Amino acid sequence: MTRITTIIELEKSFQAQKHSYAQDRIVAGEIRIKRLDKLISAIEDNEALLIDAVNADFGSRSRIESMFGEIVASLSSVRLARKNVKKWMKTRTVSTPIFMRPGRSRICPQPLGVVGIISPWNYPIYLAVSPLASALAAGNRVLLKPSELTPHTSVALKKIFSEIFDETEVAVIIGGADIGAAFAQIPFDHLLFTGSTAVGQKVAEAAVKNLTPVTLELGGKSPAIIDNSAHIEKATQSIAFGKAFNAGQTCVAPDYVLTPHSKLNDTVNALKAAVNKMYPDIDRTSDYSSIISDRHYSRLESMIFDAKERGIKIIQIGNVEKLRANRKLPFTIVVNPPRDSDVMREEIFGPILPVIGIDTPSEAIEYVNEGDRPLALYWFGASLDVRNKVLGETVSGGVTVNDTNWHVVQENLPFGGVGKSGNGVYHGESGFETFSQMKPVFLQSRFANTAMLQPPYNRSTDRLLKFAKKFM
Ligand code: NAD
Repeated sequence: MTRITTIIELEKSFQAQKHSYAQDRIVAGEIRIKRLDKLISAIEDNEALLIDAVNADFGSRSRIESMFGEIVASLSSVRLARKNVKKWMKTRTVSTPIFMRPGRSRICPQPLGVVGIISPWNYPIYLAVSPLASALAAGNRVLLKPSELTPHTSVALKKIFSEIFDETEVAVIIGGADIGAAFAQIPFDHLLFTGSTAVGQKVAEAAVKNLTPVTLELGGKSPAIIDNSAHIEKATQSIAFGKAFNAGQTCVAPDYVLTPHSKLNDTVNALKAAVNKMYPDIDRTSDYSSIISDRHYSRLESMIFDAKERGIKIIQIGNVEKLRANRKLPFTIVVNPPRDSDVMREEIFGPILPVIGIDTPSEAIEYVNEGDRPLALYWFGASLDVRNKVLGETVSGGVTVNDTNWHVVQENLPFGGVGKSGNGVYHGESGFETFSQMKPVFLQSRFANTAMLQPPYNRSTDRLLKFAKKFM
């Protein structure tokens, strides 16, 4: 399709969905459940096709990781929404100040209308399906623009969704950055973008022209802090797993490690051992995934090159040439890189792991706080005091203690970034609320006394004000 025909398709689908919304603004619980059921069946029925598509897009993507990170994670999102949607849809009653009683205050969730979702390539199924589940549970129509870097998966999603949904319910728009830019200009009732901070900024700029509310799910440098009280082997095993999963191409992957100076060598050696244990034959195993594209591969290579040029110690696990043939990169540990080196200046998003020696928890906190607020933070240790200090004095999108990455799949926890790592949350009930108008409604009583506050003001108004001052 040419750019023009895709933009015409985009406009047409948006108008069709708006029209459909105007015909049915409420969307009964049964309809929402039916849509979520269809989504669950479609993922289950097309599991093999979807995993093959992701594999074709990556070159080589671990099947187990696709099964877990795409299929299981997606099903878990949709099933949670399916199970709870009727509960989430219910009106919430909140308390009313004595002075305003017997009036009653309620929060009435309501579909927003037509929402847009822009998804990235790194988990091309999960990061499309999970927000879609939230948006459908909230009773919306959805336009989805998946990434151009995973063309097989994007086409598969379009085919599958068009078989189960009418285009007025869910439509998929295929295209690259130019279509993404046009997509962000559509006056959606809500737009959720998952991707890089740089593109997120452009999306926010485009959306603000229509005052479209946006949820930005972005990236950043997520630290893993090893405390003196930590079990080094357990901590490094978990960090190596979190980093090597999908070859480091995970938004919440530990980006770098802060470890006590006195334990720097032990940490590096334990990380090496952990990687070797998971991938005894890293050059050949299909458990270790490829980098998504030549461009991304070169970016990562140039980060390593920069570290080498600066004479920084590097440990590589795997044979560079053998791995390159499948667009894979050795698991690369970079020891004590300075802050201005390429690996520390931007999000890595690949299997490169800087390990930096620090002296105290306060130093680790300062190190993290000097950078942008991260999407995730990992802390390893046994000391409750230090844990509370680190969690209290750093601000991150989310945290896992004594492990990496797992807070993301706790569907009952809100997921999102803070500052440069994002804005807004979804998953579980938070996702439902993000895509709903949580409408505050005050029901006035016929016995209300607020009329007494109307002019002409007199001494009874004064008395009433005194009462209000005390009890409101
Ligand atoms: P990206 O920003 O390059 O692309 C994401 C999507 O935006 C794609 O669909 C792309 O076509 C579209 N796009 C590109 N230019 C656009 C524009 N001008 N206007 C609108 N849309 C446009 O991101 P990516 O490379 O696909 O993903 C990697 C980044 O995403 C990393 O930074 C990672 O940390 C982040 N990420 C965040 C999360 C999260 O949940 N917070 C999850 C996965 C990835």
